[in-house]
Amino acid sequence: MSAQYWFDVAVQTPAHSPVGGLLSYRSPFGMHLGQLVRVPLGRRDVLGVVWALRDAAPPNVPESAVRDVLGVLEGLAPLDNAWLRLVQFSAQYYQRSLGEVALAALPPQLRDLTSEQLARRLKKQNADAAVLITPGPALSEEQGAVLAQMATGTGPFLLFGSTGSGKTEVYLQAVERMLTADPQAQALIMVPEINLTPQLEQRVQSRFGTHAVVSMHSGMTPAQRLKGWLAAHAGQARIVLGTRMAVFASMPHLKLIVVDEEHDPSYKQQEGARYSARDLAVYRGRLQNATVLLASATPSLESWHLSRPANCDDPGGRYQRLLMPSRIGTGLLPKVRRVDMNKQPRRAVLSTQLVAAIQERVERGEQCMLLLNRRGYAPVLHCADCGWKSECKHCSAFRVFHKIDRTLRCHHCGLTERVPRACPECGNADIAPIGRGTEQLEEHLGELLAHVLRPDGNPVRIARIDADSTRLKGALEIQLAQVHSGEVDVLVGTQMIAKGHDFRRITLVAAVNPDTALFSSDFRAPERLFALLMQAAGRAGRDAAQSATSEMWVQTFHPTHALFEALKKHDYPTFAASELAERTAADLPPISHQALLRADARTQEAAQALLNAARETLQAQLMADPNAQALVPQVSVYPAVPMSMQRVADVERAQMLLESPNRMALQKVLWHLHDVLHQVRSQPEHKGVIRWLVDVDPQAI
Ligand code: ADP
Ligand code: ZN
Ligand code: ZN
Repeated sequence: MSAQYWFDVAVQTPAHSPVGGLLSYRSPFGMHLGQLVRVPLGRRDVLGVVWALRDAAPPNVPESAVRDVLGVLEGLAPLDNAWLRLVQFSAQYYQRSLGEVALAALPPQLRDLTSEQLARRLKKQNADAAVLITPGPALSEEQGAVLAQMATGTGPFLLFGSTGSGKTEVYLQAVERMLTADPQAQALIMVPEINLTPQLEQRVQSRFGTHAVVSMHSGMTPAQRLKGWLAAHAGQARIVLGTRMAVFASMPHLKLIVVDEEHDPSYKQQEGARYSARDLAVYRGRLQNATVLLASATPSLESWHLSRPANCDDPGGRYQRLLMPSRIGTGLLPKVRRVDMNKQPRRAVLSTQLVAAIQERVERGEQCMLLLNRRGYAPVLHCADCGWKSECKHCSAFRVFHKIDRTLRCHHCGLTERVPRACPECGNADIAPIGRGTEQLEEHLGELLAHVLRPDGNPVRIARIDADSTRLKGALEIQLAQVHSGEVDVLVGTQMIAKGHDFRRITLVAAVNPDTALFSSDFRAPERLFALLMQAAGRAGRDAAQSATSEMWVQTFHPTHALFEALKKHDYPTFAASELAERTAADLPPISHQALLRADARTQEAAQALLNAARETLQAQLMADPNAQALVPQVSVYPAVPMSMQRVADVERAQMLLESPNRMALQKVLWHLHDVLHQVRSQPEHKGVIRWLVDVDPQAI
């Protein structure tokens, strides 16, 4: 009989499958760890990654049941050890199967191509990837100091610099230095949403040449994604610019990882393996010995806390904080103006002062931006006679009134219907919208500014950018271009427009109704609001010539709230200190660590029953296990509660919170919980449960 080699291969298996995504195969040929192979799985032929080499046939399985590897993907170097360890860690930490995480981290097309097709693709890849460096501007003193600190320290670094302080320039020059010093080195630059930042893509390409840079984000075609992935994997692409998924890019010579706007919630994946790309970036940096730079004008409290300086009774955080307080050039930060809405007529949407200020700016040829975090015309339609409201019959939410196409749309399940002519309950023809969304704000502004003329004598032009206006592919780019070219005078939109865009001529930004976040049940809401408003303020006055007159307006019923006081002074550290004090007092992250167990079922009782059964079994098993008993007092496991969005698309959702000051203890309990869930789930009384999932370090409670 000929020689046989045995391997464990990571393949795509169902999310919570007990095999964990590793299956054994054999082959008459030896193989490398990390090799990409095609293997049979059931009646299919699937992509897999060689994960472990075995000395002998796997025990407990008849030899004849082990199937042969069908072939290797020729021409592709094996995935390196650092990549394998990153995936392994992610699967373990975020409680998913290895196969799922490994396969999701590879470009989808790799799964489908025949070896001939792949060979053709490989032939088309650019052989050389010459970097053509166009030098950047001479650094400011602060920028120079930051780069010098990066050169001498090991990091991870948190670059805390105001908007417009030149953070992007700093990391571009860090990339430049590294590429010049090491002819193989690769850099990974991550941004929250690449669709929102085409300008950065251009900026990076014009600095390093189009061949050296590849992008990775969900807006690309499968073919483009494969092409970029292959270039990074082969070391040809020297720079990968991408969204959270790029943290898994195969980059054998990775030396620098930048996470721009590191506080942005979109770094957290919200389905499948719910990983935080920012946190994985830090982990990956350590694995691959690459420098990690997190950058933000409003860092996450997690990173801020981790970068706290040492003092007499605290050794300080693991991260090194780098500071750039000044804006580049003579650019000043905009003046923050709070409008006390208590003093406005009841139900006023826009204060008279704000309308006057907008008019003045439009007449001077400047642009304004208004933020309202609600799309549609009105969040609810209501019958005053019988009390009917436009509830969604499938969700615990109201359907939103969209006047443009006269529909009621559920933003959770998508249910869309024409607006009824009369109240569906009592026939009253007089049903009315309650509250305001961006559509209505746009309409309302049109009326208020109808008489206003631009310097060229034309009437004011108002535009709206939100998820509705940008549904079609390319729509966002077109709308942004209109703002840039000056065709638009007043821009209305959701937070989508507050991020990252470099609108040079905007001199006034207004938050129309930011108060809800002050009293939200989500403890991160104030942190989010502060970041959003600081970012939005950063949009104003990016042109030095105009920055002296730039303003950020906040309409609020709570003008003396500490958050707005700190905003007025552009004082993130004071805001962060007060938030951290509150989090410390309440034992919330980043002081403690959390995980959520969620269950979905047809009824709320069934969802909660699974969670509570898991909780009891978990406690009992931990107590009975001498090696695990010590975990019990370290990890609080709370009883099941309905989620705040309790029902979506006819599925009832419940959650259970786990919390611990000790991350490792929490992890250990989660591993126990994983087994417990498999046991409990298979009991007949929990048949009604549709699924369960674990969210480690959840971003919303
Ligand atoms: P941030 O990322 O902090 O918002 P940027 O790096 O985008 O800041 O810099 C803001 C503006 O200042 C950009 O137009 C950039 O080209 C310019 N800039 C940055 N650094 C310098 C410098 N050292 N000299 C001249 N201009 C600079
Ligand atoms: Zn009615
Ligand atoms: Zn719905």
